[in-house]
Amino acid sequence: MDCIFCKIIAGEIPSKKIYEDEHVYAFHDINPIAPSHALVIPKKHIRNVLEIAPEDSESLLKLHQAIGHVARELGIAEDGFRVITNTNEHGQQTVFHLHYHVIGGRQLQWNM
Ligand code: ADP
Repeated sequence: MDCIFCKIIAGEIPSKKIYEDEHVYAFHDINPIAPSHALVIPKKHIRNVLEIAPEDSESLLKLHQAIGHVARELGIAEDGFRVITNTNEHGQQTVFHLHYHVIGGRQLQWNM
């Protein structure tokens, strides 16, 4: 499948890993918009939040727990951070493999 995030999970494209388990992979965004900017993704290829199926429940619980792990690892948990998943055109989704941006390390405004 021609998916850049599937290739990152497979190790075919390099990434700066933060966390990995059976269901989840987390890595630094290549184009950070804040001092801390990670991406947390399910290993299963899911296009976006519109494509989540009932059998993905365990994977997505792990993913949400991984968000907390990543925030603590990056040292942004206590001050706070933002989690975003862009969806389709108006959401400016450019990579069609479900991913959660974890953004922090500075005071965020609503328009970032
Ligand atoms: P947007 O590009 O508008 O942020 P997405 O929400 O689809 O759209 O986010 C895709 C994210 O993936 C971007 O923040 C981009 O910087 C990041 N990205 C793309 N390629 C790589 C890569 N090889 N390694 C790390 N991050 C990447």
